[in-house]
Amino acid sequence: MNTYRIAVIPGDGIGPEVVAEGLRVLRAVGGADAGFSLELEELPWGSAYYDRHGRMMPGDAIPTLRTFDSIYFGAVGRPDLPDDLTVWGLILPMRRELDLYVNLRPVRLYPGVPTPLRPEVGEPHFTFVRENTEGEYAGLGGRQGQGEYELAVQTGVFTRRGIQRVVEYAFSLAAPGSLVTSVTKSNALRHAFPLWDEVAAEVAARHPDVRFEKMHVDAVAYQLVKNPARFGVLVGSNLFGDILTDLGAGLQGSLGLAASANLCPGQRLALFEPVHGSAPDIAGQGKANPLGAVACAALMLAHLGEREAAGRIERAMEDVTRQQVFTPDLGGSCSTHEVGDALLAALEREP
Ligand code: ATP
Ligand code: MG
Repeated sequence: MNTYRIAVIPGDGIGPEVVAEGLRVLRAVGGADAGFSLELEELPWGSAYYDRHGRMMPGDAIPTLRTFDSIYFGAVGRPDLPDDLTVWGLILPMRRELDLYVNLRPVRLYPGVPTPLRPEVGEPHFTFVRENTEGEYAGLGGRQGQGEYELAVQTGVFTRRGIQRVVEYAFSLAAPGSLVTSVTKSNALRHAFPLWDEVAAEVAARHPDVRFEKMHVDAVAYQLVKNPARFGVLVGSNLFGDILTDLGAGLQGSLGLAASANLCPGQRLALFEPVHGSAPDIAGQGKANPLGAVACAALMLAHLGEREAAGRIERAMEDVTRQQVFTPDLGGSCSTHEVGDALLAALEREP
């Protein structure tokens, strides 16, 4: 029987609330019957850790994480602490140092969930592959001058290798005959995106069985709303991916439903986190939607090779949304924990 060691980082705000429900679901699907077991080890990193130690995570955090099979993460951020500290002190170092260069974001509708889309535009069912380690979020640049002469320069860094590997991964997800859309803005950003387009076309040429198009980010934003069903796999830069995947979460009906994986293809160690942040405005009130975190648990099990257990979680989620056991973000009045209860009941009903 396979045993997987999972590093659990609940983090801040609603992170611990949604992760708690994800863990209940994970405990329910693992075990002797399932043919695998999980060792869930909680790491109390984040803003509370910062209060005690002056940093978001210990100095040996990265080597510690490397000893695990997977990382299950909630969210970080607290209004009294600058983003520079929380984001750059925890999530970005994990992505970069573990070289998790793919941010994978499946977008799909769950049954029973009200979406902002009119039925005639069709259902979104696509996967966004976001570059996760370079591009616009490279962090290079600075501010100079003062008063009305002050200026800021923000430099994006795009490497041939970085583009090539993320586009290659996007193609690896695409079934023969399906469509890969490469998202750029090469008419306005005249250095980085012509390189991106060039490399993407080279990768596409190696996959003649998959359809390929390039599209500017503004047109993609428009088409995601007007004709979401046309897309299969989309691949784009760090910034464009960040923005468009929140749009995708909107199409799904709530940010609280959206799940993501941060991974390095071919490597077991990957990090799974809901797309939403720590949501301080609703933290501590028991009304956060846990389904995004639960969908992450399914993504994690699928990545570990436990596809059957992942499928069980997906089916339980569909069961719960079909019954409209909803938190307030979806127009319901259930608590985070009640959604967890409904998931466990749905898992028990399954054959
Ligand atoms: P970050 O900078 O970490 O991405 P953010 O500023 O984008 O954070 P979020 O924390 O994701 O913000 O919250 C955005 C809005 O969505 C808030 O109003 C929040 O209450 C709501 N929200 C986020 N996650 C959930 C959830 N799981 N359930 C219900 N509402 C949520
Ligand atoms: Mg956000």
